[in-house]
Amino acid sequence: MKYLGIETQKPKIAIFDFTSCEGCQLQLVNKEETLADFLAAVEVVNFREASSARSDDYDIAFIEGAVSRNDEVKRLTAIREKAKVLVALGTCACFGGVNKLKNEFEMKDINRDVYGKNPKETLWVRSVGEVVKVDLEIPGCPVSKNEVEAIVRHVILGAPFTFPVYPVCVECKQRFTSCLMEKGQLCLGPITRGGCNAPCSVGGTGCWGCRGPATDPNYDSFFAVTADRGFSKEDVAERMGFYGTFQEVQNR
Ligand code: SF4
Ligand code: SF4
Ligand code: SF4
Repeated sequence: MKYLGIETQKPKIAIFDFTSCEGCQLQLVNKEETLADFLAAVEVVNFREASSARSDDYDIAFIEGAVSRNDEVKRLTAIREKAKVLVALGTCACFGGVNKLKNEFEMKDINRDVYGKNPKETLWVRSVGEVVKVDLEIPGCPVSKNEVEAIVRHVILGAPFTFPVYPVCVECKQRFTSCLMEKGQLCLGPITRGGCNAPCSVGGTGCWGCRGPATDPNYDSFFAVTADRGFSKEDVAERMGFYGTFQEVQNR
């Protein structure tokens, strides 16, 4: 492929799944109108969901999913050693995601109740960045394909890329949505990073914060507004803990 008339090298990319639903991988193959361009810009050498290619020779590793088993720790460490750039793909990889809900429970009893005499190994769930060094994070449950494509252009060509600094509310209002908080629904839109185009609040369900905190969110104001609307601290904390995206502020 050419950039400014200069032939550029196609980076070899590999996509690996860990503890996840594999929905972020699916996003990559879902947007058919740009799939051919995407595949022309990179050489896919490992992508279990979409290709039979298998190689350990890659430049960029995309990691989908959280880490919840010892074999995953070993596999991730080996990938980190090989990859020049390691990208955490999706909320599970960036924050632990819904998998981190498990950390609230005593797994010994649950393991016995579910698996009987064949208990499964399961560790305290961690994000990818809690196990190895991460170069780039793409949040979202699932990720936005537009954002993934922009980041691939950024990594391959040096094209500028920044995440939106504004919260989900901005995109919600751009889509002429009546605020759900005015209708008695809890919504994390005011403190959550935009870029998803507010599909949840536009669809009638308050935001659950899958993209993590917006830049410099005004938590004090958000807590005051939610208290004023009658939401309990417990309800707000439960919502903020769902994806594990607000742990920093929750642990303060
Ligand atoms: S971030 Fe969401 S869509 Fe992506 S793997 Fe995790 S649960 Fe699935
Ligand atoms: S519905 Fe949610 S995202 Fe939309 S404006 Fe209200 S608080 Fe913000
Ligand atoms: S509205 Fe909130 S929960 Fe829904 S996709 Fe956007 S950030 Fe995620």
